[in-house]
Amino acid sequence: MSQPTPANEVMEPAVSVRDLAIAFASHRVIDELDLEVQKGEFLVLLGPSGCGKSTLLNAIAGLLDVADGEVWISGRNVTWAEPKDRGIGMVFQSYALYPRMSVRQNLSFGLKISGVPKTEVDARVDKAAQLLKLEELLQRRPAELSGGQRQRVAIGRALVRNVDVFLFDEPLSNLDAKLRNELRVEIKKLHQRLGNTMIYVTHDQVEAMTLADRVAVMRGGTIQQLAPPQEIYRRPVNLFVAGFIGSPA
Ligand code: ADP
Ligand code: MG
Repeated sequence: MSQPTPANEVMEPAVSVRDLAIAFASHRVIDELDLEVQKGEFLVLLGPSGCGKSTLLNAIAGLLDVADGEVWISGRNVTWAEPKDRGIGMVFQSYALYPRMSVRQNLSFGLKISGVPKTEVDARVDKAAQLLKLEELLQRRPAELSGGQRQRVAIGRALVRNVDVFLFDEPLSNLDAKLRNELRVEIKKLHQRLGNTMIYVTHDQVEAMTLADRVAVMRGGTIQQLAPPQEIYRRPVNLFVAGFIGSPA
């Protein structure tokens, strides 16, 4: 029988970054960075171009070697684990779909090569297609899709992996304003339905403020402020945050 959870037990964070340093050619672009993301939280990394958002996300994803510090995901130290073994799904700015495969094949490929049985693959793909409104498009090739549809497929590829933590790097920045707004709403709904943890990179303040449970405002490889959107807007900790958010400080 499972033990009842003691009331004073601290909830284990979904993602924990401890004293992280990342260097390119011995130059540290991130140094001594700490970040904890709670289970089910929608955390946005917000900041101007070049401030280190992608670098931090890629370090969590395992796409970069760390110079110092640790990355923990779902209670495991994954600092030296391969990306595929970290229990994460990632969506990039560029779609990176397989051009010769249909949408269904794009969605199922990763699962098939990791040995998931066909009936299970089909079930997961059908569910993702339904959630992302791709049901009518499963036989098409990427070239026959709009930009927004392609990005839905990219999100679907992360979704079918049934992971607890999703990492998004500016997934909407290649889309026009109308599609961007539509997909933003879809991503928010998806998060509400799935209840998973999301870390979402953007340089767009509106996106950050509408999507996030908490926003981490970054500058020069550091987190300047980490707080819910309203608090950042009302009580920015410094002039940089105020200026970047456009709050009346
Ligand atoms: P953001 O995603 O916030 O725009 P990045 O994380 O891409 O910023 O970049 C942070 C800093 O690290 C920038 O100064 C950038 O030039 C540098 N950088 C990023 N990737 C590399 C790389 N592969 N080699 C050298 N410098 C890099
Ligand atoms: Mg980036």
